[in-house]
Amino acid sequence: METYPIPMVPGPVRVPEAVLQAYAVDYGSPDLETEYLDLYNRTEQMLQTILATRNRVTIQTGEGMLALWGALKSCLRPGDRVLSIATGVFGYGVGDLARSVGAEVCTLGFGYDQTVSDWAAVEKAVAEFKPKMITIIHCETPSGTLNPLAELGAIKRKYNVPLLYVDAVASLAGAPVLTDDWGIDLLLGGSQKALSMPPCMSLVAVSPKAWEVIEDVNYAGYDALKPFSTAQRDFYFPYTPYWHGTAALYAGAKLILDEGLEKVFARHAAVAEQCRSGLQELGYELFPAAGAISAPTVTAVKLPGGMDWADFDRRARAKGLVVGGSYGPMAGKVFRLGHMGSQADPELMARALEVLKQLRD
Ligand SMILES: *Cc1c(COP(=O)(O)O)cnc(C)c1O
Repeated sequence: METYPIPMVPGPVRVPEAVLQAYAVDYGSPDLETEYLDLYNRTEQMLQTILATRNRVTIQTGEGMLALWGALKSCLRPGDRVLSIATGVFGYGVGDLARSVGAEVCTLGFGYDQTVSDWAAVEKAVAEFKPKMITIIHCETPSGTLNPLAELGAIKRKYNVPLLYVDAVASLAGAPVLTDDWGIDLLLGGSQKALSMPPCMSLVAVSPKAWEVIEDVNYAGYDALKPFSTAQRDFYFPYTPYWHGTAALYAGAKLILDEGLEKVFARHAAVAEQCRSGLQELGYELFPAAGAISAPTVTAVKLPGGMDWADFDRRARAKGLVVGGSYGPMAGKVFRLGHMGSQADPELMARALEVLKQLRD
């Protein structure tokens, strides 16, 4: 297939050699070999460090959407109330997923170029609607924004909301995710963003309260979380685990922890800043509104006036750069640079900016 020397798509990102090597091994049966269980346990421990949590972390075969669906289905019964806080495509989308599994959903929606700042409105909605679950997206990838979560955790605790569901697929390992401090009960992650893996694994950090709810709801399905409550203890997984995928997740997490979490976060913040200031110097306009928080993992940029997305994409590719388009109301109007994981690299970013300069000339 055609590959590009300057990959800047916001997931799947370029996979580093150390991660690729995990696939080139002929493993035995993960159902039989305790070596697999040991790998699973060690990978879980590393994910706990990355997610600043003491909660158990499930490691499931499937792309990030599996975690999004599985956590909703495992915790909700028809009629359960969900307060869905939305600032973008994924935020509104998760509300739709919850509705489709029969929940009564109240959406507290903001603009696609905003991040949550009106905590009084959030508190009022929680107090009035009394949800069983609050959902929010940490990094809204299509908008290039990052929602602050500390205040939300405090509101959740104040009103004794049972479950806080947070999609951190595009932020974890690229920005601090303080799962326990922020009171997150279901922290959802996927493999193809800052963990620098192919789209094949998903993970959920599950709080003790969430395990109680999961036990009570008793949902059965491929994406169910319940079997993971006993899988390690009994060495009995609900389906044959994907040894290669787990090994790649281990390798991806190890790269991050070997570099050091603080250094990894600082690298993401620095490359994001390089990206934003570089683009603005070139006359590009960033998508997030003034006052909104930009994501350290992805930058969304307005397509310059009069430029057609398909044409822009074709010209960028001709110069070796591949970027992402966007979705929903931003489709055709916004392009995105993914500087997460392996792509949070100042040299790569400098090359991307050089091409973006030429596209303006
Ligand atoms: C990537 C991503 C997911 C996973 O969805 P896909 O688009 O199918 O990869 C979920 N949530 C967010 C915020 C994401 O960026």
